[in-house]
Amino acid sequence: MIETDIIIIGCGAAGVQAAIHAARKKVRVVVIGKSDNSALIKAHIENYFGVVSATGQELLNMGIKQAEVFGATFYSEEVIGIEGADGGFLVKTDSLKEILGKAVVLAMGISRNKLNVDGEEALHGFGVSYCANCDAGFFKKKPVAVVGDGSAAAVAALLLKDYASKVYWIAESLRASPELLKNAKVTPIEILTGTKPARIIGDKTVKAIELKDGRKLEVDGVFIEMGAKGAAELAMELGVLPNENGSLSVDRNCRTEVEGVFACGDITGQPWQLAKAVGEGCVAGLSAASYVRREKE
Ligand SMILES: Cc1cc2nc3c(=O)[nH]c(=O)nc-3n(C[C@H](O)[C@H](O)[C@H](O)COP(=O)(O)OP(=O)(O)OC[C@H]3O[C@@H](n4cnc5c(N)ncnc54)[C@H](O)[C@@H]3O)c2cc1C
Repeated sequence: MIETDIIIIGCGAAGVQAAIHAARKKVRVVVIGKSDNSALIKAHIENYFGVVSATGQELLNMGIKQAEVFGATFYSEEVIGIEGADGGFLVKTDSLKEILGKAVVLAMGISRNKLNVDGEEALHGFGVSYCANCDAGFFKKKPVAVVGDGSAAAVAALLLKDYASKVYWIAESLRASPELLKNAKVTPIEILTGTKPARIIGDKTVKAIELKDGRKLEVDGVFIEMGAKGAAELAMELGVLPNENGSLSVDRNCRTEVEGVFACGDITGQPWQLAKAVGEGCVAGLSAASYVRREKE
């Protein structure tokens, strides 16, 4: 059994930033998670404070080294179970480690809902994107497609129209708010309903998207805006219930409704952006550290 003060679940932007801030407050910090599974690994960052251009992987590797210098311990493993225990929480990992901590920070990110069509995975990062906020700027004066029925897809189409030469919004049935729908009925957005993508075509990069009704649209980018799944099951084991958007609600100190459990990053909801993840990571790390220190004193 490993004993620590704070267990951070998730080795992405939010978890690593939480580790940096918590460890600097001289509490014992363990981070569990695989950095290779962080959303940052596939990101190219151009909109983060002070960073003109960097890969997410570079930033993540530097962040992990930084946290280790301040004393955080990293285990590249998955958490498979968590429960309340005497004086805190007991976490079990896939290599059957048991780690006891006084506070827990949930920083498991999200996994975006997939279309599950040919070409999607192979061209992810090469024209296929799950984040218009992140990648719209790479498609200046190029034709793109947005896929999704809800308001997230409408917001993406509205943002992309300011960059792209043409925006095809493909929706099986439109479920976006009436206000957004009204705004989206403008050039260069063309709304195609009653159909869905059959495959994404491209060699090294996206060249076209083929629809179930046989139409083929020549595009350079495909934005899949179909929402996201949170790592809700683990949170629910602790009694932290997801809100109506499927994310975890936190207060200004990144506290969840369960005492001693904090959350930060994509798992707490939109915007799914690096700046928000590290901002919340900072707050969650500091809050968890002061929670633990108060108990010590
Ligand atoms: C392709 C792409 C491009 C992007 N581009 C940009 C951009 O340009 N600008 C920008 O600001 N943002 C961008 N983002 C978003 C940004 O990467 C995320 O907002 C940020 O990484 C969120 O940090 P996080 O720590 O909440 O989640 P993540 O970084 O995704 O980290 C989650 C961590 O939790 C771990 N985890 C999950 N479940 C478990 C478990 N059971 N046990 C242990 N660990 C677990 C994962 O393995 C991972 O280590 C992009 C995202 C993608 C996918």
